Amino acid sequence: MTATTYNDGDKILSLGKRQLGADGHAGGRAAAMSEDYILVTERLGKSFGDFAAVSDVDLRVKRGSIHALIGPNGAGKTTCFNMLTKFVKPTSGRIFFNNRDITGVRPADVARLGLVRSFQISAVFPHLTALENVRVALQRKRGDSFDFWRSKRVLEPLNERAMALLADVGLADWAGSIAVEISYGRKRALEIATTLALDPEMLLLDEPMAGMGHEDIERIAALIRRVSANRTILMVEHNLQVVANLSDRITVLTRGRVLAEGDYKTVSENAEVKQAYLGVGNG
Ligand code: ADP
Ligand code: MG
Repeated sequence: MTATTYNDGDKILSLGKRQLGADGHAGGRAAAMSEDYILVTERLGKSFGDFAAVSDVDLRVKRGSIHALIGPNGAGKTTCFNMLTKFVKPTSGRIFFNNRDITGVRPADVARLGLVRSFQISAVFPHLTALENVRVALQRKRGDSFDFWRSKRVLEPLNERAMALLADVGLADWAGSIAVEISYGRKRALEIATTLALDPEMLLLDEPMAGMGHEDIERIAALIRRVSANRTILMVEHNLQVVANLSDRITVLTRGRVLAEGDYKTVSENAEVKQAYLGVGNG
């Protein structure tokens, strides 16, 4: 693979696996886990001044799974999430993606490696149609974003792929609708479509159901399940019903630490987990 220059003018980053090498620098422990775990953190921590928002978090996300990060308000979910997407710099610990230490890698470069946060890169342009939005995202993926306004001839061939993505998220009938005019739930679906256009290996979702009504929740839950078929998904989600229905594995945080981990039945029956939720409110 040849080195690529990014749209945003970031430094050149070679994506070649040779950098990792079997005998690689990435280290023994993470390397040993590479078969099963796509994302691993080692004693991840973030302090704000004297306050430890996240401490010693060892997260292991299985390849191909839907993994949920839950916990009461203030537990450190968002801080954790932001460290994984590289928007917050850890004060301690390390993050590995596909066996590669990404602790010091910048957000755009992490996205290029296949770890993408929904809404991170692919903002929805309100006055473009749903189809145009997905086409723009597809073109970004190709690395042509500088000229997307004038390159109609380049965009046209992308229509077919864009339509397929819209169909995937249940928006085939809204292809010609202006983004700003579609419902909130469908806008979130469109955001997911533009994220999928980047073909991420792993998708990070921050409260995908936030602000949604019942009907939209069902639609997005079905969508998440569908797109998880050949990817890994890590989501922070407050709606425990959604978490119960979707997640293969759940990590519960409280006060910045991992309190419990397991499937929904296991964590929901855990006395400490119940106490954490009752004691602090239903974050
Ligand atoms: P959650 O998303 O689980 O509700 P957060 O990660 O947002 O929790 O916050 C965890 C703790 O860290 C909270 O006590 C919050 O007040 C604190 N915190 C988060 N961000 C900052 C910041 N930028 N500066 C200081 N404290 C912060
Ligand atoms: Mg939060």
